[in-house]
Amino acid sequence: MKLAILSRNTALYSTQRLVDAARERGHSVRVLDPLRCYLRIAPNAFEMHYKGRVLSGLDAVIPRIGTSVTFYGTAVLRQLEMMDCFTPNPSDAILRSRDKLRAHQMLAAQGLGLPTTVVGDNPDDTDDLMTMLGKAPHVIKLNEGTQGNGVILAESASASRSVIEAFRGLYANFLVQEFIGEAKGADLRCFVVGGKVVAAMRRKAKKGEFRSNLHRGGTAAAVSLTKAETETAIRAAKVMGLNVAGVDLLRSRRGPLVLEVNSSPGLEGIEGATGLDVAGAIVDYVAYRHARRKRAQANSP
Ligand code: ADP
Repeated sequence: MKLAILSRNTALYSTQRLVDAARERGHSVRVLDPLRCYLRIAPNAFEMHYKGRVLSGLDAVIPRIGTSVTFYGTAVLRQLEMMDCFTPNPSDAILRSRDKLRAHQMLAAQGLGLPTTVVGDNPDDTDDLMTMLGKAPHVIKLNEGTQGNGVILAESASASRSVIEAFRGLYANFLVQEFIGEAKGADLRCFVVGGKVVAAMRRKAKKGEFRSNLHRGGTAAAVSLTKAETETAIRAAKVMGLNVAGVDLLRSRRGPLVLEVNSSPGLEGIEGATGLDVAGAIVDYVAYRHARRKRAQANSP
């Protein structure tokens, strides 16, 4: 298969591992910087150039689009989709999952567990909004934050109100959630590939911190998931339309709660904690889907 990894940086662990896994399996693979792809859009004639040369004949692409380039990166990916290139994570699914509010609405609509969340725009409604949520502590988070940035624990109602007012003053989009204290600063990262959990780790926040992100000094170890956790992770990825996803869950008294479904989950933490070849699992899945598509095309009249 002729594979491309859409990534800004060849030296990143995740990018490198995907390249190595593809080469080990005999695929031709190259890394494309999405910001160096440029597009020609004309009726039924999609064209893409890369650093001065035409790009064509790609069978599949694995997108690794950072949040700072979501708009351009997903436009490039969409163009590749229109040029008949297979992607495990379609551009629309990536956009869906990047918007936490939209993702929560879609997950809740399918009955998946999540921390109760409220959203409001007008300062006159803040008191009632907080009543809708229930007693503090609350977690206030920026809609498009990542790596725990812009996730704030407000221990009292007055702290919660102050943070909400400050975010409004900055015209930021944010969500307010119930705080799941019984998770004790730990969450589960479930790595889903092609409708299966291929690896899972438990991340624990460092002392004095409630966010368990590894970028915040959290530590990780392999974990075995319960049946309910496995099912929740698989369903959450499916609802988002992602075939490669890092689903973050909190263990709560009422079962697993989805925090986030990440469309470009990092490989370093999960491979380090579990010793599993997650990059290989992704490449194998993409190759399997590509072969299936080729067979279907060959059989169609
Ligand atoms: P990001 O996308 O920036 O990682 P998350 O929503 O995943 O943001 O939150 C970061 C971390 O904060 C989570 O991994 C979890 O440990 C903690 N956290 C987030 N929301 C809650 C909550 N409602 N209750 C308890 N802990 C939470």
